[in-house]
Amino acid sequence: MKLATRLLHAGRDRDPYTGASSVPIYQCSTFAQKDPEQRQPYDYSRSDNPTREALELAIADLEGGARGLAFASGMAATSTVLLLFKPGDHIIAGEDIYGGTYRVLTTVFKQWQLDVTFVDTTDIENIRRAIKPTTRAVFVESPSNPLLKITDLATVAKLAHEHKLLAITDNTFMTPAAQRPLELGFDIVVHSATKFIGGHSDLIAGLAVTRDETLGKRLKSLQNSFGAILGPQDAWLTLRGLKTLGVRFAAQQQAAERVAQWLQTRSEVKQVFYPTLPNHPGHELHLRQAAGGGAVVSFELAGGGAAAKALLKRVELMLPAVSLGGVESILSYPPMMSHAAMPRSERLARGITDGLLRLSVGLEDVDDLTTDLARALTAD
Ligand SMILES: *Cc1c(COP(=O)(O)O)cnc(C)c1O
Repeated sequence: MKLATRLLHAGRDRDPYTGASSVPIYQCSTFAQKDPEQRQPYDYSRSDNPTREALELAIADLEGGARGLAFASGMAATSTVLLLFKPGDHIIAGEDIYGGTYRVLTTVFKQWQLDVTFVDTTDIENIRRAIKPTTRAVFVESPSNPLLKITDLATVAKLAHEHKLLAITDNTFMTPAAQRPLELGFDIVVHSATKFIGGHSDLIAGLAVTRDETLGKRLKSLQNSFGAILGPQDAWLTLRGLKTLGVRFAAQQQAAERVAQWLQTRSEVKQVFYPTLPNHPGHELHLRQAAGGGAVVSFELAGGGAAAKALLKRVELMLPAVSLGGVESILSYPPMMSHAAMPRSERLARGITDGLLRLSVGLEDVDDLTTDLARALTAD
C-alpha cells in the first residue's frame, strides 16, 4: 500500500476487541492475570499498552522498520537509544544536531564516559577521519537545524556498516512522509513526535524505529528497563496526528517553498536557507533522498540581532516560540532559544549568526504569512 493509505491503516486501524474506529485510550497500569503460567499479550503498561502498541506498530510500518517504540519525548527516545552503548564507546555526531541531543551527550553521557566527536557530516571524509577503534555509531541529522545542511544518508550508512558501526538519524524535520532513512540503510531512526507527527503543538512525544528485529528487541528491553514510555493519552493523540501527517506535510512543505522564494526577494533578508532552493549547496542531494524540502525555512536578516528581535516582536499571526511542526506557523530565534546554551563564539563559528531566524510554516494561507512578515519587516 502507498504511504497515504498506510498513514491511516498501518498497524491497528481499529480496536481489535470492539471494532471501534479509533483505538481506545487504554488508561490502565495493569491487566488481570488469572493464570500467571499462561503468557498473555499484556501484563503491565510500562511493558506494553494496547494504545501505545498501536502507535508503535504504525510508526514501524511507516518508516519501513522491524520494531517501533514510543517514548515520553523525543529526548527520551534519543537517550534510550544512547543506552545501547557502554562507557568507553565512541560516537561520531553531527556538529549541528539538535541542541538537546548535544546537551545530553556532553553532560549526562559524558559523565557516563561515552566518548563523542562532533563533525560536519556534510563531508563524509570528516566522519571517516573521526573513526577510531572504539567507535560504535554515527548519529546524523539531515536537514540539520537551523541551517538545513544536507548530509548524504546512504553514504553515511554505507561507511558506518563498512566499519561495523550503527547508523542512527533523527528524522524529525522530514518525517516518514518525505524521507525514510531505514530504506537508505540506517539502523535506527528517532523522532520528536512533538513536531510534525503530532502536528498540533499539543503534546510531547518521541519515537524510535529499528531496521531489524534483533536491535528492536534490545531497544524494547531498554524501553521497559529505563521506563521513559509514552502514556496512553499521548499515544492516542500522536496516532490521531499521524492520520493527517501526509496532507499536512505536503501542504506545509509547498507553502514553505513559496515563503522561502518570497524571502529571497526581500532586501531586508541577507540569506535564505531552504533545501530545495537552487542556490542551496545540498539541494540535488536532498532531492535524491527526500520528497521535498520540508516545512522549515531559516533566514538571516541584514539588520542582525536587533532586526531579528524586532521581527519576533512585530509578527502577529506567527507564534514567536521554540518548537516547530505545528499546524500554526512558528517563528523562532535560535541564538536566544534552541542555541542559547551555546557560547556565542561557537555559535557564530557554526554559522548561527545573530540575525538568524527559523520559521516553521503552518497551514495558514501563504499570502497571509507573507503579509505578516512584510508588515513586521517594514514597521518602524
Ligand atoms: C524537538 C526536537 C527534539 C527533542 O524532542 P522533544 O520531544 O522536545 O524531547 C529532537 N530532535 C529534533 C530535531 C527536534 O526538533
